[in-house]
Amino acid sequence: MSATTRSAGPSLRGVGRTLRPTAKVLPEHARAHNRAMVLQHLFHQGPSSRADLARSTGLTRVTVSDLVSVLMSEGLVEELGVRPEGRVGKPATLVGMRTEDFHVVAVDLADDASLRGAVMTLTGAVVARRSASLDGRTGDAAVTVLEDLCRELLAAADARPVVGVGIGSPGVIDSAGVVIAAPNRGWYDLPLAARLTEALGVPVQVANDANTHALGEYTYGGATGSGLMVVTVGQGVGAGIVLDGALVRGRAHAAGEIGHVTVVDDRDVRAGDPEPRPCACGRAGCLETLLSLPALRRATAGRGPEESGAVLASVGRKLGLALAPVVSALNLAEVLLSGPPELLDGPLAEAALATVRARTMPLLGQDLVLRMGSLDEDGALSGAAALVLSGRLGVT
Ligand SMILES: [Zn+2]
Repeated sequence: MSATTRSAGPSLRGVGRTLRPTAKVLPEHARAHNRAMVLQHLFHQGPSSRADLARSTGLTRVTVSDLVSVLMSEGLVEELGVRPEGRVGKPATLVGMRTEDFHVVAVDLADDASLRGAVMTLTGAVVARRSASLDGRTGDAAVTVLEDLCRELLAAADARPVVGVGIGSPGVIDSAGVVIAAPNRGWYDLPLAARLTEALGVPVQVANDANTHALGEYTYGGATGSGLMVVTVGQGVGAGIVLDGALVRGRAHAAGEIGHVTVVDDRDVRAGDPEPRPCACGRAGCLETLLSLPALRRATAGRGPEESGAVLASVGRKLGLALAPVVSALNLAEVLLSGPPELLDGPLAEAALATVRARTMPLLGQDLVLRMGSLDEDGALSGAAALVLSGRLGVT
């Protein structure tokens, strides 16, 4: 944690924030929990002595030494020599996580036309990229395309051990990686994670793409974990929420689905709004009918900058209407927008923030940050990698 420790290892950079465990730890889970705390510290703070680890985790030195030995035998952690001490006492041996010696395979399924994948190091650096065209395939045929892409990526992992495969997919997905419904892929009650784990022989984790996006911004993008919402704008509108360092999933695994909040009703039409448009969910006037990429492109097509700005600001106000109660209920610190900056950054984001502020208590709205995500188009891939880190190593 000291400055000395931080600068000790050139290959290990500190990313993201620290995990705040929210659940009570049962004795049988204590060992896994302690192990995760040690890895978490090494991942974010870089090389540290065993004494540093004991101080930061609150574990005894004996427990820490024991855990470090196990992690070294697994190859996840290595000794990095001795830290020179300015003060009297025995110099401390530093241990560090071998973040560059392990790979993660990440796949982003958000796009309807093609699947994008990457081999990444544990710190999120891209080592190789591959993609595969869906060519309109859905259902089992789409799973086959995905499986082949994963095999290609695993082959590209350069003989380094792969910790796991992380997949961000559209749709409602439970914590076991079962796709409950992803209509665009034709997937219903599909145990995607289990099926791919068996086929590939590597642990596979699957989560909703907006959720992986939020994890990515939290783990790699420097976003706060104390109240973060990432709104993804693509073919549809989704959102992922990280609260107190943990992903919020909700009762039916659909937390964050603000895209289908009604923002245009009869009263708005009487006040001058255009008629509500029908939505893919079967209703009309949902936020998604205005904020999705196709809707934004349609609304700004053929318009000059000033006119486009006014149109985008009006969509931003509708986004603000949907966000205000969420910001209030969860006391969010940051709302990040993910999508094309030429449409989202500017009048749309400004109007959204102004609307949230106008509709929330000053205490809640005044310090709210609403900005573009910092991981650009690799956000979903970084998030899929973060999914593996959190699922396999307990590191977020
Ligand atoms: Zn809808």
